[in-house]
Amino acid sequence: MVDAIAAAQVLSEIGYLLRQDPKERYRARAFSAAAWTLALQRPELEKLRRAESLTSIEGVGEGIARVLVDMVDTGESRYLNRLREQFQQPPRADESDLDFSDYIGDIHSHTDWSDGRATMLEMAQGAQALGYSYLGITDHSPRITVVHGLDAERLVAQSRQMAEVQKQIDGLTLLQGIEVDILEDGTLDLPDAVLEILDIVIASPHVKLRQEPAAMTERMLRAVSHPHVDVIGHPTGRRPGSREGATYDFEAVFKEAAAHAVALEIDCDPARMDLSPEMARLALECGCTFAVDADAHAPAEFAYVAMGLWMARRAGIPRDRILNFRPVQELTMAVER
Ligand SMILES: [Zn+2]
Ligand SMILES: [Zn+2]
Repeated sequence: MVDAIAAAQVLSEIGYLLRQDPKERYRARAFSAAAWTLALQRPELEKLRRAESLTSIEGVGEGIARVLVDMVDTGESRYLNRLREQFQQPPRADESDLDFSDYIGDIHSHTDWSDGRATMLEMAQGAQALGYSYLGITDHSPRITVVHGLDAERLVAQSRQMAEVQKQIDGLTLLQGIEVDILEDGTLDLPDAVLEILDIVIASPHVKLRQEPAAMTERMLRAVSHPHVDVIGHPTGRRPGSREGATYDFEAVFKEAAAHAVALEIDCDPARMDLSPEMARLALECGCTFAVDADAHAPAEFAYVAMGLWMARRAGIPRDRILNFRPVQELTMAVER
């Protein structure tokens, strides 16, 4: 039986691999978009296959329908297997077994306090509808002026709103965090006194990604050693097929992250999918933990996790190394408080 989530992950991986080839950019996007539809709508694939109406799914044309037929009939996708070979990413014996139904909370999301397109209440309702038990609201820090990043004063105002929204939402714990910019020298875009009071601090590189590798290594080492950082968001900042992302001594930074119990993010936004399976595997060997997040800017984007979870599986990451499979009380950052 092939369910829609499993199929979404296959289409998502195909989209990811096709993005490595500039000529395939259009098809890559089509596969990612179809994966998103499957993750959101969860159509009954076997039924549609029998009725020969897989193309009735939004965004599923003849080519993608053929991939789905193959999956329903054989349980796997020969097209994906071919692409894996072509891009030299063969299946590995030690891939892990992760089930999206066990995923219980997303800790990286945005609201209209910065560049999100929905209110905090709408985001909370979206997470609640998925049955999550917690949601981290992590808007941007002030340096990202184009998106009206949050300074200390606005964070206080946001926490008041969060208390109000929390009253309207049952069964979902809202966590207030920040996605703080890692500045060129590795310091963070908000003072320690502010970071200290937040539930989650995600430190992300957003600008000057093409810094010379030695300087970039220093920058990232400093960020992972910061006492208030919980997670490194999209650790290289790459966008497959359009932006290369940062290069640094990954092993040194990942080892330091592990030593400080700082998790590395697998950002399931199809435009990012950063880390990569190979880098996640290296990080796992270095002893790191992971956060698998949608980086959602609207409620529908929460579904990115359901389609992007394949990367953690392919990297062989077991569920006990992923924060989002842990109850809220066991999140590292909650423990600190
Ligand atoms: Zn970011
Ligand atoms: Zn973000």
